[in-house]
Amino acid sequence: MHLKQLFFGVLLCSTALLGGCNESAPAPDSKTVAPEKTYQWKMVSTWPPNFPVFQEGVDRFAKSVETMSNGRIKIQVYAGGELVPALQTFDAVSQGSVQLGHGAAYYWAGKVPAAQFMSSVPFGMNASGMNAWLYGGDGLKLWRELYKPFNVVPFPVGNTGVQMGGWFKKEINSIEDLKGLKMRMPGLGGKVLSKAGGVPVLLAGSELYTALERGNIDAAEWVGPYHDKRLGLDRAARYYYTPGWHEPGTTLELIVNQAAWDSLTPDLQKMIEEAAMATNQWMHIQFEILNLNALRELLADKNVKVLAFPPAVLAQLKQITSEVLAEEAAKDADFRRVYDNYKAFAADNDIWHTLSEISYYSATHPDFPLDVQKVLQNITH
Ligand code: CA
Repeated sequence: MHLKQLFFGVLLCSTALLGGCNESAPAPDSKTVAPEKTYQWKMVSTWPPNFPVFQEGVDRFAKSVETMSNGRIKIQVYAGGELVPALQTFDAVSQGSVQLGHGAAYYWAGKVPAAQFMSSVPFGMNASGMNAWLYGGDGLKLWRELYKPFNVVPFPVGNTGVQMGGWFKKEINSIEDLKGLKMRMPGLGGKVLSKAGGVPVLLAGSELYTALERGNIDAAEWVGPYHDKRLGLDRAARYYYTPGWHEPGTTLELIVNQAAWDSLTPDLQKMIEEAAMATNQWMHIQFEILNLNALRELLADKNVKVLAFPPAVLAQLKQITSEVLAEEAAKDADFRRVYDNYKAFAADNDIWHTLSEISYYSATHPDFPLDVQKVLQNITH
């Protein structure tokens, strides 16, 4: 065969590639190739419209998925109340009226008590501990099991880091000061407050300022300086307490309707998974940057007083937390199962953190235990 003949032979072969190198194979018919399926999805959230970090993170996630999928998945995003009320996000995803939602697992404690472990546990693990448990331990597996009966697939998307203890209209000098105190506090923290004599109230973010300002509640916690200031809580109460004993590393969630998830090809599922993990990290980074700047502004405001909870109050709340967790575990088998897993992981995590993080912090802050007022005085405005 001449070289020229060989060249044309190869060319013919390559044009008949789909049918193999066979002269009798029919030419590929473009009409028989199905176009790539596209998805027009809706995503609702529990957050106020345009709310920084949280709703921004939701937008970021939606855009990432659209870009990565080259437009095969387009997500129309709605904030709380725009399509469904904020606290009906879970139901909307469960029923399939929307495909995606974003919120926090402890909002659904009434349906799934054990889901509270997936957001935050008072005196429990911080952000890095939660991520280790969810991604590296059994956390995410257990979470998926808990939501399966509701046709919902969860992913960790967002972490606030350690929160602040909240805004109070009066000083908290002893556990007695919590008696009768009506406070916005979701999840297990709310249960602890209740056992301490307080009255926990669950309200969406958009409702907090009005409720506190009008005196419908006596105290409110949201996240930290940046978000709290944005909600106007500094204009509704004077005393701002640290630390957020009730939420040491709150994980937020992306929830996907099971049938919608199952309809995706593995490559699209992987894109959702990776965008979720990236946004989980992105939100945590935002808080690391934004909270201190907002705290500086709060410290400059003469109407705001930043205080630390007295150690005796924290010790009592910690004791009450153990009692609450044991009581809840006795009521619900799933709660017991998740609690046992969380507790064992947290104990190991604590050993490592004591040796690494705490050991490091005590080297860099030799005045442990901290004098919070001294720390605040050293923050330059
Ligand atoms: Ca909170």
